[in-house]
Amino acid sequence: MFKAKDLEKLKSLLSEPRQIVILSHKNPDGDAIGSALGLYHYLIQLKHKVTVIVPDAFPEFLAWMPDSSKILFYEESQKKCITKINEAEIIFCVDFNSLNRVGDMDEPVRLSTVPKILIDHHPQPENFATLVNSDIKASSTAQMIFETIIQLNHKKKINKKVANCLYAGIMTDTGSFRFPSTKSETHRIAADLIEAGADNFSIHDNIYDQNSESRMRLLGYCLSEKLKIFEEFSTAYFTLSKDELQRFNYQKGDTEGVVNYALSIKGIKFAAIFKENEENIRISFRSKGKFSVNDFARKHFNGGGHVNAAGGNSELSLDETISKFVSLLPEYRKDLSS
Ligand code: 5GP
Ligand code: MN
Repeated sequence: MFKAKDLEKLKSLLSEPRQIVILSHKNPDGDAIGSALGLYHYLIQLKHKVTVIVPDAFPEFLAWMPDSSKILFYEESQKKCITKINEAEIIFCVDFNSLNRVGDMDEPVRLSTVPKILIDHHPQPENFATLVNSDIKASSTAQMIFETIIQLNHKKKINKKVANCLYAGIMTDTGSFRFPSTKSETHRIAADLIEAGADNFSIHDNIYDQNSESRMRLLGYCLSEKLKIFEEFSTAYFTLSKDELQRFNYQKGDTEGVVNYALSIKGIKFAAIFKENEENIRISFRSKGKFSVNDFARKHFNGGGHVNAAGGNSELSLDETISKFVSLLPEYRKDLSS
């Protein structure tokens, strides 16, 4: 929630039509795109001119979201994005809390002197925004966008488009309402969104049940050939090389969720997937219980995230990255066995 004073400032900022930029993070997921577009569809009703910018492309399974085709990718249209950032009178930052999450866009954003409004649920926010709404207990940023619209007394502005986007953000970040961050309030908000027109079945179907054959075969390959288990450390992980990804015609988002299969094994508390990119090794970490993958990713793999879901990066080769990972496990024996 915004504090009363900040809420008044936000109300006053939004009281006349403005040029607004909404930013979200690299490798945008359902909550990044859902929050940004949900906020977009709310703000355009107040006659603001709004542009959503993210550092790079989002997976195809999010393309159904209304006006997703209007989103600008910094990677593809740097000049246009910089112009939009420079012309903005307000910048919203949603679903991230440190500027390194927007990649090379951090510089124009840092240089901009207009009010920056942060709405986010990740721990340890960096101090770069003018107004901060940080709630690490929130299931998702989309939930916080909903709460913000309510705080602004605009429940009636939650139309079908806003509702579809926000529902998608909440659904994806809660693993379809199953992670511990799912509270009764989360379900109440989901219910309000369905009443406001969110088509819950279609959202789920569009996101989870429109897979390509090659994506399913890649998942099958991971499960049957690539799963490694270290029972001693309650840990399981997958690795995928560039060649393997190519073999399965890898498209952005195809490995989303794969890491959860490793975590779904009885007794496993820590899971990871290591993916070889053009530039580096991209890692997703997941955990159950107290073991903080946010701390682990920050400390060892130049990343971060939440206690139970985080990402990281490695500049080493895939083999070297795995060796480093495996050699770290004994250090965490106690945390992983309790
Ligand atoms: P994923 O593994 O799905 O890419 O990311 C899991 C969670 O960690 C998401 O909430 C995402 O925003 C966050 N995250 C992913 N990569 C990074 C990173 O490099 N740094 C930080 N601070 N957070 C990350
Ligand atoms: Mn999120």
